Amino acid sequence: MTAPNGQESRRSTTTQATLVHRARARFAYKPADVSPHRRVQRPYAMRLWAVRHARFLEWFYSRFANFFLKLHPLWNAIGYSRAEKPVTFIERQVKGLIFDCRMCGQCILSSTGMSCPMNCPKQLRNGPCGGVRANGNCEVEPDMPCVWVKAWEGAQRMRRGDAILAVQKPVDQSLRETSAWLRVTALAAAERAKIPADQ
Ligand code: SF4
Repeated sequence: MTAPNGQESRRSTTTQATLVHRARARFAYKPADVSPHRRVQRPYAMRLWAVRHARFLEWFYSRFANFFLKLHPLWNAIGYSRAEKPVTFIERQVKGLIFDCRMCGQCILSSTGMSCPMNCPKQLRNGPCGGVRANGNCEVEPDMPCVWVKAWEGAQRMRRGDAILAVQKPVDQSLRETSAWLRVTALAAAERAKIPADQ
């Protein structure tokens, strides 16, 4: 039956596919626009500098770690827990400036080409997701170079760059906002003294 005003024939052409198409036009995902997480964007210049100078930073950090370990008697005298607050403050400033450190408390920069994996919006600690863009940028934050692409570049420059192949444990959230420097030092001192770290 044909309606005299032609309404029937118009209704019959509105298929499911047409509805989906219209909806898609309204809600199309445009990843190039803005990060859906709307994280505070930081400039990446220092972070990229650290990756470019990964070899120097590797050399520097090994000496710094030795120096910190030499201070173990001092940390012991002060008390590691009492030293925690000021050392964490300094660590946050220094590593925040150079690496955009997020203070996870279990630093793996030496295994990630000096590119902090906690800057990955998905916080992946064992390589990139499948969404890296063709230009090497992050799928979530289109303006940001993928931290794992940079990690691989940095690792190629380091003497112990193949540490990037080691599988990392999941992040222990209870260590957030604590000093990785002190923790590594306490562990190394315990190892040196051949006593369990938790004694
Ligand atoms: S791995 Fe953790 S401690 Fe190291 S720079 Fe990144 S957030 Fe900071």
